[in-house]
Amino acid sequence: MITGRFAPTPSGRLHLGNILCAMLAYLSARSQGGRFLLRIEDIDIPRCPEHLTRQAVEDLRWLGFTWDEEPLIQSRRSGIYQHYLDLLTEKGLTYPCFCTRAQLHASVAPNLGDTQFIYAGTCAALSPDEVRERMKTRSPAIRLRVPDREIAFEDAHCGPWRENLARDCGDFILKRSDGLWGYQLAVVVDDALSGVNEVVRGRDILSATPRQMYLLEQLGFPIPRYAHIPLLTDSQGRRLAKRDRDLDLSALARRFTPEEILGALAFSAGLLEEPRPMTLEGLIPLFRWSSVKTEDLRLPDFTS
Ligand code: GLU
Repeated sequence: MITGRFAPTPSGRLHLGNILCAMLAYLSARSQGGRFLLRIEDIDIPRCPEHLTRQAVEDLRWLGFTWDEEPLIQSRRSGIYQHYLDLLTEKGLTYPCFCTRAQLHASVAPNLGDTQFIYAGTCAALSPDEVRERMKTRSPAIRLRVPDREIAFEDAHCGPWRENLARDCGDFILKRSDGLWGYQLAVVVDDALSGVNEVVRGRDILSATPRQMYLLEQLGFPIPRYAHIPLLTDSQGRRLAKRDRDLDLSALARRFTPEEILGALAFSAGLLEEPRPMTLEGLIPLFRWSSVKTEDLRLPDFTS
């Protein structure tokens, strides 16, 4: 039995890009007779106020989504993440990192443009005495040691993907120095404990997948099937961004019905010949991965 999920981060109102992702995840799971779950990824608590979680749930219901279990709320699951962090620590896979933001920026080698950095391993070999000494003045982040080997997989939508974690990513954070959980650990633990075996999400997360696969492997969990979907662009081919307020549901819901929004997205994705109002349930029999485009998806000009 397939179990799919949608896992939004409610740091703003749901956006067309989120709805596209929810829609394809839902259609894929339901068209295989599978289950569908909702998880609220609000681990960055200061950026995800509770009213936005309520709003996301309401928006998804308004669009016609249903899910098979109570939504999982990450901000309430700290004890569970701690348990799995402890398991990794017992295996000798973690270490405390005392680097400040300024030190990180000064010591790391830039990679993939200037948005992603590889950690230089500054704290990877501190002695127990050094750790004790530094603990007196600063609470550390916890990092996972990554291996110098390729992790490869076949994405169900993008095809083959591979990454060497040591070379392309570096030791990454499982828990931040302010106590907030790292995204990779929370995603992996929650997907595994909820029995998720199909992960459909935006292509912007494709490059995090080898890190998540490594974590799953170390925790003894099975690897789900991954399908990373293309990103949405406006009718001129520009990537949509959270700042495009007219493309979030607060503006869209005033002007369009759920069926108009879903029909426009289904058309962009390649599931309809032309944009026309559709319910989610009506789209289930039309869904095929082979119809979903692999290049960036252009929205029809339905918002102007
Ligand atoms: N919470 C992530 C986001 O909203 C998605 C994580 C995932 O689907 O694994 O971008």
